[in-house]
Amino acid sequence: MSKKGRVFSGARPTGRQHLGNYLGAIKNYVALQDDYNCVYCIVDLHALTTVEDTANLRQNTYEMALDWLAAGIRPAETIMFVQSQVPQVTELHTILSMVTPLGKLTDLPTFKEKVRQNPDNVNYGLVGYPVLMTADIVLYKSDIVPVGVDQAPHLEFAREIVRSFNYRFNTKALIEPQAKHTEVPKVLGIDGKEKMGKSLTNQIELASTPEETSQRVMQMVTDPARLRRNDPGNPDVCNVFSMHKIFSPAEEVEMINRDCRTAALGCVDCKKRFAANLNKDLEPFRAKRAEFAAKPEQVWDILHDGARRARELAEATMKEVREAVQLPE
Ligand code: ADP
Repeated sequence: MSKKGRVFSGARPTGRQHLGNYLGAIKNYVALQDDYNCVYCIVDLHALTTVEDTANLRQNTYEMALDWLAAGIRPAETIMFVQSQVPQVTELHTILSMVTPLGKLTDLPTFKEKVRQNPDNVNYGLVGYPVLMTADIVLYKSDIVPVGVDQAPHLEFAREIVRSFNYRFNTKALIEPQAKHTEVPKVLGIDGKEKMGKSLTNQIELASTPEETSQRVMQMVTDPARLRRNDPGNPDVCNVFSMHKIFSPAEEVEMINRDCRTAALGCVDCKKRFAANLNKDLEPFRAKRAEFAAKPEQVWDILHDGARRARELAEATMKEVREAVQLPE
């Protein structure tokens, strides 16, 4: 079957992935492979804008690749690679930065947010982050970028840069990518309040053992108004119930929804059920991860092969770009 076009997506190497990454991104990455030619990039250069200590950068890249492969990224058809291994991206970044107004970059809410979070490390790379992101996307002539609502302005920005470049150099060398809006859940951490994330240490990692996973699940906060075992609970405000809806069989979800409200089911039992269902769901992932983890060199080979294929696409685009800009051959 011929596929519909090329999808690009990148994620910073954050190491072992958690349920939020899985349900919010990786699951969609895996599904998109059926219909599109996919290019998935571990954007380590982007990570440098905020990471000060790079001691774990390689290991985080490797761990993330392991999780992607174990979750079902198929490297024979999908190009999966590390951003810094395609140096053309930095060349395109430099060229695109010449058609990007500085004021627009510093006005972006995401930039202002980063400045607020880390006022002592407002580096040049941080300002140019959306330009590098644009270079990532257009270098591979990607037609489609999956985006959640909050990332939509960045893609619009990328489209503007492409239009400016094509207009300024009177070319069609770069393709304006389209946003593919995807509904992904916002997964809350075990605290039941904040978005699941590594920095808040409220995550459940995919690579944990079944025992570690059960332990984390048992720490999950349920309906905060349910103080005693015999109090009726409200599944509508319970993070554990929202996870049951994703990982548990329909009849069980129905039973929990009913028996929690009458206090026939307590939170401890409810969490035990979730831990069991989650562990069962993760079984194939764990088996595959263990296989890859036994041969780290195979994971690196996959990434190197991806980078080689990505460089071929990148070099073809750069030939057109250099020609348009009149840089010598
Ligand atoms: P990045 O900065 O590369 O987006 P993150 O680790 O924050 O790195 O996120 C990687 C992907 O996982 C993103 O698509 C993000 O939306 C998704 N993601 C991360 N945490 C969650 C969460 N708690 N719920 C849903 N999606 C999440």
